[in-house]
Amino acid sequence: MIHLDDGSISINGKLVFVSLKRFRDKVCEEKVCFICAEESSEPTKEHIVPDWILKRFSLYNQKIQLPNGTLLPYRQYVLPCCMSCNQLLSRELEAPISKAFKAGFEGVEDFLMKGNRSALFVWLALIFVKMHCKDNSLPLNRDHRENTESIAKELEYDWGLMHHIYCLARASFSEAIIQPEALGSLCIFSLKVDPDAREHFDIGSITFANTFSIRIGDVGIIACFGDGGAVQSKLHQLFLNRIEGKLNFFQFRELLAHFACCRFHLKNPPYFSSLFDIDKSEVTIVCTQIDEEPDFHKIDHSILGKLMKLVLYDSPKDFVEIPNYEQRLLDGDVGFLFDENGVFISHSD
Ligand SMILES: [Zn+2]
Repeated sequence: MIHLDDGSISINGKLVFVSLKRFRDKVCEEKVCFICAEESSEPTKEHIVPDWILKRFSLYNQKIQLPNGTLLPYRQYVLPCCMSCNQLLSRELEAPISKAFKAGFEGVEDFLMKGNRSALFVWLALIFVKMHCKDNSLPLNRDHRENTESIAKELEYDWGLMHHIYCLARASFSEAIIQPEALGSLCIFSLKVDPDAREHFDIGSITFANTFSIRIGDVGIIACFGDGGAVQSKLHQLFLNRIEGKLNFFQFRELLAHFACCRFHLKNPPYFSSLFDIDKSEVTIVCTQIDEEPDFHKIDHSILGKLMKLVLYDSPKDFVEIPNYEQRLLDGDVGFLFDENGVFISHSD
């Protein structure tokens, strides 16, 4: 076992632990391979949105809108990676996960039932952390006459937590053992597929609340990072168990706002660390709870309103016939999930 000057740890020539310093100075600056965190002898590119998704939804020439408003073609939305690391990710994560998604909601549900929750969470962590690393190299202000810092610097990303998510994301490479508690909230939802709709693929990332959603066909997933599963339990107590049937676009987006709001109000998130067993040459990612039970700040409804506006106002406003829509979203006056009696509004056929 070798300790590097930057705090990283190498076992048998492989960086099993990448320090926060190396993550920030080298990985996020795109100076090394995103996965092994070393200079690559066979450099290639790792797509931030997995290749099989780009293929399935013909996205190569379409553009993703970045937090600074820039539109970047998906084919250029990449990070440096070695050929061998790229192949490892394909084999360990992308192949089984793409297969599960190919079979739709039941396929992903079955994948989870077979004990793959950790793999699915790691895969989501990988996309989330790749997106945020990329933001490190992009200026917040597109107007180059104004000298702004990167998106990541200007928006003050929490690199400590991002580093934990990175450690999870590269677990296929480091072969780290992940304690189940070190994963966060992860819920899957069955979505209604409207053949006329254009949105069969969608990513929602709410950085300041460490919450992420992805929609692939009829499967919608929402994950929270760094909460040890507290958000999922809390929302189950509140209303998740009342959801019966498939969700439409608005309902799924509303859920994203609720997850992010709840995550934002978590008072005592756990700590995460990587432990080393020198005898076994093994790394374990562990989670330490501060208190016995998760605790939440009293929900500030203006934050929920802002989140509702963020996830619901822009893209589908042309389809909503609600007078004064923007203000009513902000006021928490619009809900798509439940009627006035708290009964789920079903759109299933
Ligand atoms: Zn590599």
